[in-house]
Amino acid sequence: MSKFHMTGQNGRDGDSVGQSNVFMAQYPVIMPYLNNMDITSFDFPYLDELLSYAHARWLQQCSGLLWINAVETAVFTPLGTRVGPGRADGEWPLLIKQVLETGKLQLSAPDSKRRAAALPVFSRHHEEIFAVLIFTAHAGGTLPEPELLQTTTLHFRSCFYQQFEYQLLPTMLKKRNQSDREAKLRSTMFQIARNMHDKTDVDALLDEVFSSIENLFPNVRLTLFLSHDRRSGNPRVKQLLLHQGEDNICLRAFMKGTLVASWNLDDDNSQQGEDTAAFEFGIPLRGKQGIYGVFLMELPANHKYPEQEELDLITMLADTAGTAFENANLLEQSNMLNHELRLINVLAQRLNRNLRLDDIFTFAVQELINVFSAEHCCIVQLDEEKNCFEVMGSTQAQLKGSMFPVNYGFSSILYTTGEPIILADYMERTPAVSFFMEATLSRSLMGVPLTINGKVKGSILLSHPKSHYFSYDNYKLLQMFAPHIGIAIMNASLHAQVKQLANTDMVTGLHNRRYLNAKIMDCQKEDFCGSLIVLDIDHFKKINDTYGHLKGDSVLEHVSRVVLAAVGERDICARWGGEELAVYMPEAGIQQAVECAELIRTRVSAEIEPAVTVSCGIAAWSRNDGDISVETLFNKADMALYRAKARGRNRVVTECT
Ligand code: GH3
Ligand code: MG
Ligand code: MG
Repeated sequence: MSKFHMTGQNGRDGDSVGQSNVFMAQYPVIMPYLNNMDITSFDFPYLDELLSYAHARWLQQCSGLLWINAVETAVFTPLGTRVGPGRADGEWPLLIKQVLETGKLQLSAPDSKRRAAALPVFSRHHEEIFAVLIFTAHAGGTLPEPELLQTTTLHFRSCFYQQFEYQLLPTMLKKRNQSDREAKLRSTMFQIARNMHDKTDVDALLDEVFSSIENLFPNVRLTLFLSHDRRSGNPRVKQLLLHQGEDNICLRAFMKGTLVASWNLDDDNSQQGEDTAAFEFGIPLRGKQGIYGVFLMELPANHKYPEQEELDLITMLADTAGTAFENANLLEQSNMLNHELRLINVLAQRLNRNLRLDDIFTFAVQELINVFSAEHCCIVQLDEEKNCFEVMGSTQAQLKGSMFPVNYGFSSILYTTGEPIILADYMERTPAVSFFMEATLSRSLMGVPLTINGKVKGSILLSHPKSHYFSYDNYKLLQMFAPHIGIAIMNASLHAQVKQLANTDMVTGLHNRRYLNAKIMDCQKEDFCGSLIVLDIDHFKKINDTYGHLKGDSVLEHVSRVVLAAVGERDICARWGGEELAVYMPEAGIQQAVECAELIRTRVSAEIEPAVTVSCGIAAWSRNDGDISVETLFNKADMALYRAKARGRNRVVTECT
């Protein structure tokens, strides 16, 4: 059962009274409610006025009764104060005390000057005495029978409750309307919260927040300022600039974490056009883990200042939005992370499948362009010998292979700082002049150092013609990608080195016989002809015997250098056997080979100390030959060499001579 305390109620708030249509509509609901209402002892100190009204009404209703004119009536509160006009009689406090103690009708002492009867008035549900009614007979008169007095006391109680309900009604109607409104808002809020939490996509969620608030408050202008950079398709989502002055309402709301209101006191407001807001509210977008931004809600000049409950609702909405935003963001981030990890995994796998450096650069450029939707890419590697950068892979074919100094462009910054770079607009801020940026007409740039074995050995640059193109997430992802590209390059380089070692002879530094064979076979697939020189040091045994093996080695090495210096760029030199060397000359005819061999022979005999000579055998192949196998070619050259030895050494003999 609901209790009613009179505390603070003046009962005359008439703004809803008199609206009989409202009352009638709510009658079936209100009446049981009103009947249930009662006063309690907490209300006793505030009953005077109500009792006084009840007394007057009761007297008015009893005015036609003869006996009532023969008595004087007075109403007392349980605290002993008399309600309404009249003086307190010396005997009455005692009578009142007896009534309160016994809860029954009490008569004045038989010897008292005037005859009086005091009766308790009980509250209708709680049966507490909330008033004492005293009837006093006029001098010489008598009091009515006790039954009549009790009946009329019940009548007084009815008058009291009538008055009580009458005074309660407006407050009740108001409260009821308010609770109806609140219930409606609660259900709207519930709907909104459900809709918001259904959204797992941050942009869709923000759209939902905007439309929810605008549905509830159609005349407001709403903007959301997010504290972190986020690309949004919604034009009303902007970035909160933290360097604005402290008088900025959004910044204040962001710092305080609570709703901040401000209003435009300018009287000329209305003349400043529709764009000037009369009230502004900064409402933080608050989640469990932090504040993500601020809603700026602007109310037009003709709008009334919102009720507190409306502001509470907006704050609640913003909080719901904040939690939903946080959840959607977390989900988006975890999806993104998942996606990034998968991308990195795929990239690492594919990169490691390649062992050719060239393929790795080509593949890395392609992948980077795909993943970041970049327009241009350039991977640059440091050439330590030449102390310059070389473009190893690029979307710009003309850049590939080009070299530039180590102190030039963004690669230079990345190389010296070892730190990644993100540039929103090259046109606006140019920390380095860059041929890559200019040639591609790019404005946005992301660059990361290319680290191989813990050392910066180059750079990866990605660009786009649009300014502010790359997001911070792109930038972070590129930083995760770069080490994998570095590792793939390192692996491919090591692989190339191992391969090189496997194909190289340790003493002479020339290729070995296996490599030479393979190369000749490769050339024979493409070329029309080629020549082979087989070269043997004359009486080499004697050198060893005379000067020792170490000297022998150095002579062998010296001869190799002479050979290398004498041949052309495409020619392949190899150590064929002990002190036998070979030179394959792609697309060279026998005459060219003879000239080359002669050059070697004369230089060896002229330059090397202790003096040595070489004998050379030459063979050639052409597409017209029946058998062009490498073995046949070697055999023919070997035969020629044999003839050179036989003819006295230090000479060049061809297969035909
Ligand atoms: P010829 O003019 O007939 O070729 O006489 P030769 O003495 O050069 O020929 P032979 O085949 O009799 O001897 C080759 C010598 O070359 C034998 C071997 O000890 C020496 N030799 C082979 N490989 C190396 C090497 O790597 N270092 C050194 N120091 N000597 C080597
Ligand atoms: Mg020899
Ligand atoms: Mg030999």
